[in-house]
Amino acid sequence: MSRVLCRAVFTLRIKVPLACNMSAYLIDDPKYAFLKDLGLEKKNIGVFNGKWEANGRVIQSISPANGKVIAEVQAGSLSDYEGCASAAQDAWHSWAELPAPARGEIVRQIGDALREKLQPLGQLVSLEMGKILPEAIGEVVEYVHVCDLALGLSRSLPGTVFPSERPGHILIEKWNPLGAIGIITAFNFPVAVFGWNSAIAMVCGDTSVWKPSETTPLVAVAVTKIVEGVLKKNDLPGAVAALCVGGKEIGQQLVKDPRMKLVSFTGSTAVGHQVGVEVQTRFGRHLLELGGNNAIVVNEDANLELLLSAALFACAGTAGQRCTTTRRMLIHKKVYSEVVSKLAKSFAGVVNKIGDPLLSETLIGPLHTPAAVEAYKKTVAEAVKQGGKIEFGGKVIEREGYFVEPTIITGLPHDSPLVKSECFAPIVYCIEIPDLETGIKYNNEVDQGLSSSLFTENLGNVFKWIGPHGSDCGIVNVNIPTNGAEVGGAFGGEKATGGGRECGSDSWKAYMRRSTVTINYSGAIKLAQNIKFGDE
Ligand code: NAD
Repeated sequence: MSRVLCRAVFTLRIKVPLACNMSAYLIDDPKYAFLKDLGLEKKNIGVFNGKWEANGRVIQSISPANGKVIAEVQAGSLSDYEGCASAAQDAWHSWAELPAPARGEIVRQIGDALREKLQPLGQLVSLEMGKILPEAIGEVVEYVHVCDLALGLSRSLPGTVFPSERPGHILIEKWNPLGAIGIITAFNFPVAVFGWNSAIAMVCGDTSVWKPSETTPLVAVAVTKIVEGVLKKNDLPGAVAALCVGGKEIGQQLVKDPRMKLVSFTGSTAVGHQVGVEVQTRFGRHLLELGGNNAIVVNEDANLELLLSAALFACAGTAGQRCTTTRRMLIHKKVYSEVVSKLAKSFAGVVNKIGDPLLSETLIGPLHTPAAVEAYKKTVAEAVKQGGKIEFGGKVIEREGYFVEPTIITGLPHDSPLVKSECFAPIVYCIEIPDLETGIKYNNEVDQGLSSSLFTENLGNVFKWIGPHGSDCGIVNVNIPTNGAEVGGAFGGEKATGGGRECGSDSWKAYMRRSTVTINYSGAIKLAQNIKFGDE
């Protein structure tokens, strides 16, 4: 029964059960039959420690596109978390003894299992998180790509041999797994972020406990069922990849737990700061992937056609809910007016393509929660109060679900607190710059340091941008948007973005411990630096 109809029923004072939506979960609607292809039911267990068992509260998973309940997930209690952590630690002993290429083979099979479920899993991401289907499928593809990357890594994990200064000695750098690790993820990449961590951690020989966002529990259950299927087929303990759905209380427990040798945390800077301090207090290891405040610098020599097609997706795509979404456009004064008016025009062109993220004609889906809509409204109102001008958008869209207009704001100072903070919604501030040097300065003046992009046709500018006095971000792009990274490179950012790196390059090092080994095969003791200690 629709909300409008429910309201009408109450106005007429006809006696109907109070909970209008109780029986009408979306999972019962044949339109969402893909949920059953993923093994999901109306009531799901959100804890997996080798067995599915949960004793915590029941979470209703809501679709942001219509505010309706998709299905329920029973979260974990603190003692369920305890069960996950000890099972993951037990599973580690056998998992770590498997040769890395054998672990890679398991990850390869997970990649294949994901390929088989690409469509339904993508549809679920779209339904539960709210991003459009091509992006949601892209997110699953990203996990598949990380599995491919991890498979290669499983046969090439390096270890170095160094020359020793002592005759008959050898110096080896040996990498070993850490043990059990904790993975805490944000709502906006409910598959990929787990995949980035899990696939690499698995080939490195670690087991994991995953605490997903409490607003995307169905995705977490579906992904874990896929991984469980592969582990089971290979007679491996399920707790190699344990899951504990829950809120902040489960996250806090995991962060404090000394059995979690690494806590990989993806989420807001405010929470990540607490997590980092807590993990450091127990001398654990942390990998922080936190908020961004990403800028595109548009130089006077930019190819504007290229820029405009990139900027639309960068600013408005995913309804502004990527950590790498462009939040600031720093535009050279010579092209400022042209860029702002053309950007507003291209925003106008997508407004009629805002809607149900599962439909093929949709380009922009909803915000994830009513709280996100409130944050959007508050930010727009505050910007106007401070003298900002809304060049486009600024309004909540009156329809079921949590939809807002992509928004362009001009007229705020580059260093206003609003411009310097991350509002996780499709709001971009356009700021005029007199020259590239100022653009770089403004790019770097925010606390966050995730992604950045320069549009220029000049090679000298490119090298300035990527050099020591260029962008201070972890991701430094040229002539592409700030969002949409590939798995081969290391992903992450500096400063208040946390400094962590995941995925490609040498990010695997975060999931392993390093031993420097010196082996003496000379038959005589010889000290380094030629130190004589009681020698004749
Ligand atoms: P959030 O910080 O609210 O929550 C993230 C996770 O932390 C959730 O699983 C949540 O339950 C858990 N959590 C909350 N309080 C906790 C605590 N005290 N201890 C331990 N865990 C706790 O973030 P969100 O709203 O889900 O995600 C949006 C944010 O994530 C944005 O700031 C975005 O930029 C950032 N993000 C960053 C990256 C990156 O790679 N840098 C990627 C995706 C999202």
